[in-house]
Amino acid sequence: MPELPEVETVRQTLRKKVLNKTIKSIDILYDKIIKTDLNLFKTRLINQTIREIERYGKYLLFRFDDDYLISHLRMEGKYLLRTKDKEIEKHTHIIFQFTDDKELRYHDVRKFGTMHLKPHDEVFQDEPLAKLGIEPFDKTFNLKYLKNKLNNKRKIKSSLLDQTIVTGLGNIYVNEVLFLANIHPKRISHTLSDDEIKRIIMATISVLNKAIELGGSTIRSYYSDDNITGRFQNELYVHNRIDEPCYICGETIKKIKVCGRGTYYCPVCQKI
Ligand SMILES: [Zn+2]
Repeated sequence: MPELPEVETVRQTLRKKVLNKTIKSIDILYDKIIKTDLNLFKTRLINQTIREIERYGKYLLFRFDDDYLISHLRMEGKYLLRTKDKEIEKHTHIIFQFTDDKELRYHDVRKFGTMHLKPHDEVFQDEPLAKLGIEPFDKTFNLKYLKNKLNNKRKIKSSLLDQTIVTGLGNIYVNEVLFLANIHPKRISHTLSDDEIKRIIMATISVLNKAIELGGSTIRSYYSDDNITGRFQNELYVHNRIDEPCYICGETIKKIKVCGRGTYYCPVCQKI
């Protein structure tokens, strides 16, 4: 599943291609992706221009003149820019035709992706963004905020995966953040010291920045667009490195399940 850095990579790539393009018509081949009334979705978007593409956590926010199209790629969603004469690939579900000869096609093998359309001033009302926590790059993602949110008896891994606490972190990056912060994934959240919480914040920012710089991780079938391959998977310290030596201490990386998720850690660098 794409996490924040992968979605950011998609955002940066897409915006270069589709900014200032105006929608002429929309073909909906599979309508369950669209969570707004279909008629409204079509009639409102036609004749609107894409002014910017923003991101909140793992959501892409296409800012049109009057509305936001809020898109979540889930497992395998991706956007492909094609000329209109190009054959429509299998698993293409939504086609946004522009006023030029191009169209933006939403492709999703698993069909788990979602799209919501909302007027600008309602973008954070209700689903899907209303309940999300803050962005890791927000200035308010600090010791005070996180300490307050970690005042619970859940394992730290579970707290960091909770999108209502901080939005955008998924399994890969939580594994990496906990390694860099030297914290065992099963530590109970409220037992963390201020120093440990600060280490989590610093590790989060540094892991995400590095991943964005390298275009994210390409793991399994995820990719952002035709020719883009993330390079962050070559930089992973623990994720997917079971039985390999820790780069810091040489101990063998272990894999356990925490909250049902594959969790990689170093038993020496991350003592319980
Ligand atoms: Zn180690």
